[in-house]
Amino acid sequence: MGVSLPRKDLFDIPAGVIYLDGNSLGVLPKGAAARAARVIEQEWGGQLIRAWNTAGWIDLPRVVGDRIGALIGAPEGSVATGETLSIKVYQALDAALKMRPDRRVILSDSGNFPTDLYMAQGLIGTIGKGHVLRTPAPEDVASAITADVAVVMLTHVDYRTGRIHDMAAITEAAHAAGAVMIWDLAHSAGALELDITGSGAEFAVGCTYKYLNGGPGAPAFIYVRPDIADGIDPGLSGWMGHDAPFAMELGYRPAPAAERLRVGTPPILQLSVLEEALAVWDGVDLGDLRAASIRLSDLFISEVETRCPSLTLASPRDAAQRGSQVSFAFADGYAAMQALIDRGVIGDFRAPDIMRFGFTPLYIDEADVIAAAEILQDVLDTKAWSAPKYQIRARVT
Ligand SMILES: *Cc1c(COP(=O)(O)O)cnc(C)c1O
Repeated sequence: MGVSLPRKDLFDIPAGVIYLDGNSLGVLPKGAAARAARVIEQEWGGQLIRAWNTAGWIDLPRVVGDRIGALIGAPEGSVATGETLSIKVYQALDAALKMRPDRRVILSDSGNFPTDLYMAQGLIGTIGKGHVLRTPAPEDVASAITADVAVVMLTHVDYRTGRIHDMAAITEAAHAAGAVMIWDLAHSAGALELDITGSGAEFAVGCTYKYLNGGPGAPAFIYVRPDIADGIDPGLSGWMGHDAPFAMELGYRPAPAAERLRVGTPPILQLSVLEEALAVWDGVDLGDLRAASIRLSDLFISEVETRCPSLTLASPRDAAQRGSQVSFAFADGYAAMQALIDRGVIGDFRAPDIMRFGFTPLYIDEADVIAAAEILQDVLDTKAWSAPKYQIRARVT
């Protein structure tokens, strides 16, 4: 048993807000602002360039990588941090394709987050050897793992529906077919118990501004299975992934293990805030977290289905098949979400018609869930969403 949940006292959440969007941008941990101020004023301002050594900046990517590793079931030294998830997807895919030079197929699915697919498309063009990207429906992936597949690249929890892929079974099928496995844990890290080591997957990637509360633009992470790490040929061969960055050699020689998947200068402000944000996980039992997430999500589904018959559940009903979010389809979902946000219940909208609600047991409890469902019912019963101001689409939905 870990510490009891929720731990609302560890976060700064604005009064009057029920925040059901921690799956998209996590809330502000209480220590983050003070840490950022300290890094800016004392470390950067006071120590200047000396801080790379004196404040431990140079080691921060690995220190933070190990903390994330503990949350995804990865051993120390197997997780590198930096850049954004799009870049980490590219690096993993590039390295994986080089491991299967005789094959030309990247298998993903039509539920994947678009940037993962876009990065694959760009990489295919750069390699220029006629690779193809296949995107069957998520339910059809397992049967699409044929002998021509070089890499299976999937997002574990579907960003729209919350549907979970069976990590162990799909990884096993990929390996049986001779393919390399990449898992994107963007909607899994900090949301579910994960055993990336036990899955046997070669690579995993993820971001840290969703369930890990690292703040907007917080650096991404990449895991590489330790037994293959020293054989990886990094496509983005930056100096921070060099074996001896400050030897200033003219030729690239990769660092050992996951360190070779670092690229450029780490974002120290964001990494420091992220390190602070990861402290809230101390003592949290991920099994307890998952149980709480299921309780909250199941409660939300039953409350909304009772109160809001015009909404259609777009997530798996079976909690075992669902991540830490619940989605409902509604034709005027964008406007309804705007009206809801105006009333203090913050979720988000994903085209074409998905109202998405994330459940983060670190700072959401059952009273929040019931209050959110009541306010949603009011928005729908009164058609508050039909006001013209709610029809105007902002750039970020
Ligand atoms: C959130 C998310 C991303 C975002 O990538 P960035 O490079 O951090 O903008 C990528 N992939 C998935 C699956 C995501 O959920």
